Amino acid sequence: MKPRVSIVGLGYVGLVHAVGFASLGYMVVGYDIDSSKLEKLSQGKPTIYEEGLEEALARALASGNLRFTNSVEEAVLETDVTFIAVGTPSLPDGSVDLSQVESALRSIGRALKLKGGWHLVAIKSTVPPGTTEGLARRILEEESGLKAFEDFGLAANPEFLREGTALRDFYKPDRVVIGVRDERSKRVLLELYEPIDSPKIVTTPTVAELAKYASNVFLAVRISLANEIASVSKALGVDAYEVLRIVGLDHRIGPHYLKPGLGFGGSCLPKDLKAFIKVAESLGVNARIARAALEVNEEQPRRLVELLEKRVGDLRGRRVGVLGLAFKPGTDDIRESRALEVIKLLLERGATVYAHDPRAAEKAREALGGKVTIVGNPQELIDTVDVVVIATEWPEYENLDYRGKIVVDGRRVEKARREARIYESLTC
Ligand code: NAD
Repeated sequence: MKPRVSIVGLGYVGLVHAVGFASLGYMVVGYDIDSSKLEKLSQGKPTIYEEGLEEALARALASGNLRFTNSVEEAVLETDVTFIAVGTPSLPDGSVDLSQVESALRSIGRALKLKGGWHLVAIKSTVPPGTTEGLARRILEEESGLKAFEDFGLAANPEFLREGTALRDFYKPDRVVIGVRDERSKRVLLELYEPIDSPKIVTTPTVAELAKYASNVFLAVRISLANEIASVSKALGVDAYEVLRIVGLDHRIGPHYLKPGLGFGGSCLPKDLKAFIKVAESLGVNARIARAALEVNEEQPRRLVELLEKRVGDLRGRRVGVLGLAFKPGTDDIRESRALEVIKLLLERGATVYAHDPRAAEKAREALGGKVTIVGNPQELIDTVDVVVIATEWPEYENLDYRGKIVVDGRRVEKARREARIYESLTC
C-alpha cells in the first residue's frame, strides 16, 4: 500500500506539499493549529497566493485524496508519515525560535503513543543542525514512551522550494535530501518521492539540516556580493547589470542570484543567514562572510532612501509612491520585505507614503496599519505622487507610464529606466 501522508503546519511549504502529494495520488491529511486556515482550505480557498495553487487545491479536494482535520491525533493515526512544516522564525538575537517545532513534536509524540504501530516523522522545517537527532528525538521519545529509529522513524527532509514557483519546485526540485539513521525511514521516503524526477540524496539528519542552511547562506552571499559589485559599478558610472551579465556567463559562476538591487528579504534568506551565524558562533566559528552578507543587505534600503533624498531633498511632506510590497514577485509574502524597510525609513523622514502591490496589499495593510495609503491601481499611484520608488519587480510594472516622473528604482524596471524624467538606482 502507498504510504499515507499527514502534514503538520499548512503555510507556504506545508500547503504546497499537501496539495502536491495529493496530486501524486497519495492520501493526504492536513493539520494546522490555526483552525480558521483549516476552514478556508476545506472550502477550497487557499490561505496564501501561489501560482496555480487554487486550481490544484480544488482538484486535490475533488479527487478525495486531500482532507483537513483539526485533530493532530487523527492526522497521525490515519497516516504513515507525518511531515512537520511549521515556522522557524528568528528570535530577536538571530537564533532560531523552535517553539512551533517543539509544540508540533509534543502533539505528534502524544499521538504516537496512541498509535501502537510504526510511524515516520519527517522534519521539513528548516532547523539548526542536530535538531532532529537531539531535540526532536528527545521530545518524541518522552511523549510517546517509544524509541526513535526502532519503534518509530525519524528523518530530516529539508525543503528548498521557492515562493512564487513553489508548486513547480515541488514537482521538479534540484534535489530531494533525505537525512536518516534507519533503513525503514529511508525506504519509506524514497518510495514517497519516487514519482519526483530529481536526484535523491540519502545522508544523515545533521548533514541534511546543515546543507539547507549552507544553500541559503550561499545564495545570500551571492546577492550581497552582486550588490557590492554594483556599488563599485555605480561609483565608476557604469551599469552593474552589464558587468554582472558578463560575470554570470562564466560557467563556473552562472547567472543566478546575481541581480543587484535592494537586497534579499522573505521568510528564509535573512532568518537562515542569521541562524547560521548563531550556530557557527555556538561552535566557536566566526562566520565572517555570512555576517558581511547580512550587513550589506541591511544597508541597501538606507542607501536607496539616501539616493532619493539626493534627488528630491527633504522628504518631509513629500508624496512618495512605493511600487511593490511583496518580498519578490509572484508571492503575497511580505516577511522581511525590503519594501517595508524602505517604507519605515520614508515614514521616519516625514514622507507621505502611498503603496501598491498586485498580491500583497491585504497582508501589507494589516502590517502597516493606517500609516500608508494602499492604492489599487499602480498607474493612479504614479500619477498621484511626487516621486516613485520601485521595490518589487512585478512584471506589470513594465507596462506603466513613467513619463515626466522621478523614479528611484530598487530593482530593474526597463520601462521606468527609459521613460522617467529622472531615473536613479543602486545599480547604474
Ligand atoms: P509559515 O509561517 O507560512 O507556516 C507555518 C504554519 O504552521 C502556519 O500555518 C502555522 O499556523 C502552523 N503552525 C504553527 N505551530 C503549529 C503547531 N504546533 N501545529 C500545527 N501547525 C502549526 O511557514 P513556511 O514559510 O511554510 O515555512 C515553514 C518552514 O519551512 C520553515 O522552517 C521555513 O524556514 C521552511 N522553508 C520555507 C520556505 C518558503 O519559501 N516559505 C522554503 C523552504 C523552507
